[in-house]
Amino acid sequence: MLRFELICLTGIAVVSAIGEALWGIAIPLLLAGIVAYCGWHLYHLFRLSDAIRTGKQLPAAFPAGLWGVVYKNAYILKKRSRKRKRRLSRFLRRFTESASAFPDAAVILGQGKKVEWCNPAAGELLGISWPQDAGQTFSQIVADPILQEFLEVENEKALEFTSPVDQRKILSVYVTPFGKKHQQLLIARDVTASYYVDRMRRDFVANASHELRTPLTVIRGFLEVWKTQNDSPQRLRSTELMLSQARRMEETIQDLLTLSRMEHDGLPAEEAAVDVPGLLDSIVKEAMALAENSDHAISLVLEDNRHLHGNAAELRDAFSNLVFNAVRHTPPHTVIQVKWTAHGNGAQLTVADNGGGIPRRHIPRLTERFYRVDSARSRESGGTGLGLAIVKHVLARHDAELEISSEVGAGSTFTCMFAPQRLIEPVDKDTVVSQQSAMQRKQSL
Ligand code: ADP
Repeated sequence: MLRFELICLTGIAVVSAIGEALWGIAIPLLLAGIVAYCGWHLYHLFRLSDAIRTGKQLPAAFPAGLWGVVYKNAYILKKRSRKRKRRLSRFLRRFTESASAFPDAAVILGQGKKVEWCNPAAGELLGISWPQDAGQTFSQIVADPILQEFLEVENEKALEFTSPVDQRKILSVYVTPFGKKHQQLLIARDVTASYYVDRMRRDFVANASHELRTPLTVIRGFLEVWKTQNDSPQRLRSTELMLSQARRMEETIQDLLTLSRMEHDGLPAEEAAVDVPGLLDSIVKEAMALAENSDHAISLVLEDNRHLHGNAAELRDAFSNLVFNAVRHTPPHTVIQVKWTAHGNGAQLTVADNGGGIPRRHIPRLTERFYRVDSARSRESGGTGLGLAIVKHVLARHDAELEISSEVGAGSTFTCMFAPQRLIEPVDKDTVVSQQSAMQRKQSL
């Protein structure tokens, strides 16, 4: 590589020596040689820098020596970078094509919620166009305060809202953070069809339940009167049977109405400090009365005295469902323990029994409406099949989760886990919400 340079320098030295020997002009010759040599280097340095600056193609015929090597390497690097650029632009084209075919709106938000990129569907669903809206803040284009709030915090669930472009469209939006620059990928899906089907289903169930409630109350009223007037034992038996079926229907309707009310309202209407120890004490007493003839051993352990911020009626409904289930779905002499304890910074309610347990395959489906492990036995024991669905809804409305563990022959444990932000230190007795007004759903059992 350095051979050419050495030859040049040696040549200059030899010519200077000959010049000195013949005419005594070594210095001028040496200077002229060095100037020519440096000029040649400067010329190539300039050419290279010019080629890098302008992106001009370097000549394929490389000069000799060090510059030849530099030119060759620069040529190879350029060729590689051109190839990479072509590959990248092919990839980008494919990405843009697939993003354009994507039916959901996809928007990349950068720092300060500024639009960095979006696909064409974002225009149809959210009214954001790219590149026209690039650099604009999201709130300048979509002025929806609920959506703005949704973007500020990390959410696991999607948000449903009306499209700002077409008021008939319902969109489901979810946001995923990514990248080191705190970017966010917002995906909005058109869920109009399923939203209206779901609303129709909810409305139908609510309306049907509502319509059935009044005639059923009348029928039950008449049956109760009729029961007192019946002297024949056979008629009395059939009246009692009709009455118990009417009561069951009333309970089912009541549970359906409770569920549809919870589905309809996003959050509980009234929330206050709920005295959980007091509430559990009253539920356990009711469960003891319910288990009077079955010799269940029910105990209450209160290891935490904190209260919950929530809706007293809904919490009573959920907790009593779990405790009464432990009585109704287990054989006599079962030991049941109800426990309110701290769990990390939060708290949990555990209802554990050593009854027959539930086969593992049923556990994931227990909170579905009308799902029963043993339909005949559950109906016999007065269950509507909606209890655990109500529990799940109530807990979701209180930022809590239900965990079910069970083993056949060993018993079941139902745990409600509450987040720390829902817990409050006990306040003055007068301000604690009265539990007496709470719903008495299964008390009649
Ligand atoms: P139900 O009104 O029938 O009690 P739920 O939704 O409350 O309806 O419960 C669903 C099913 O889960 C019940 O039918 C029963 O089979 C089962 N189950 C609930 N709790 C227990 C328990 N503690 N032990 C055994 N099975 C249970």
